Amino acid sequence: MITRRIGAAATTLVLAAGLAACGSDDGDSGGGGGDDSSIKIGIKFDQPGLGLKEGNTYTGFDVDVANYVAKELGKTDIQFVQAPSKQREDLIATGQVDLIFATYSITDERKEKVSFAGPYFIAGQDLLVATDAKITGPKDLDGKKLCSVTGSTSADNVKEEVPGVNLQEFDTYSKCAEAVSKGQLDALTTDDTILAGYAAQEQYKGKLKVVGAPFSEERYGVGLKKGDTALCEDVNAALTKMVEDGSWDKAVEDNFGPAGFKVDSKTNPPKLDACS
Ligand code: GLU
Repeated sequence: MITRRIGAAATTLVLAAGLAACGSDDGDSGGGGGDDSSIKIGIKFDQPGLGLKEGNTYTGFDVDVANYVAKELGKTDIQFVQAPSKQREDLIATGQVDLIFATYSITDERKEKVSFAGPYFIAGQDLLVATDAKITGPKDLDGKKLCSVTGSTSADNVKEEVPGVNLQEFDTYSKCAEAVSKGQLDALTTDDTILAGYAAQEQYKGKLKVVGAPFSEERYGVGLKKGDTALCEDVNAALTKMVEDGSWDKAVEDNFGPAGFKVDSKTNPPKLDACS
């Protein structure tokens, strides 16, 4: 395990060095074939365990899956771009990123604008509350001040499930976690993976807890340009290999293990959808 972590850190450093050296070479044409070795990948920058930027280092499960897939696609020069929830479809449609690995649930509505490879993970929506809070699920949220993020399935689901909730929509989950820890809001709702990462952060230890009763199924896909079936097939081939050679398991253990997050092995690793 220790060796593996050092390996992951070394990879990140090499990638960061590569980026610094190629800073001006930005005119590439995307991830869909050709012999160009550069690729722009959208990730989250503020979700520990999934996508986290600290200085020039990127860590998390999404980052590990992205690095694996990019390598399989023959891309050695990765540029990570921040992909906030509500901007993901636009980032793909406008070509600002080639692929997105950002806790990005596959939905029919999103499929009208982008295509998805995967799914490569299945999470569930849950709640993050103060350790002494009495909230045990959506049924306790009526009239409560709840935080989530604009453009997320989490915000949409909860509006439907609990019409009486006082929902505040921020642009990032880290801002929600901070507001809950200060007692300004009662709860944060999003995927259990993301919540576990915040609950394990040093500044929130003993202050915040995940309720632990997931109430949705969030199938994480790899966002890509709508209709690029060839790229989708290539990404799916890489995801299949990642599971088969044990790298997917390793990424799960390395990134979710430290937060004590238990992955549901009944649904994970998930079966891939057909590319369309
Ligand atoms: N997986 C959900 C979504 O794609 C919530 C997490 C997020 O906003 O990234 O909307």
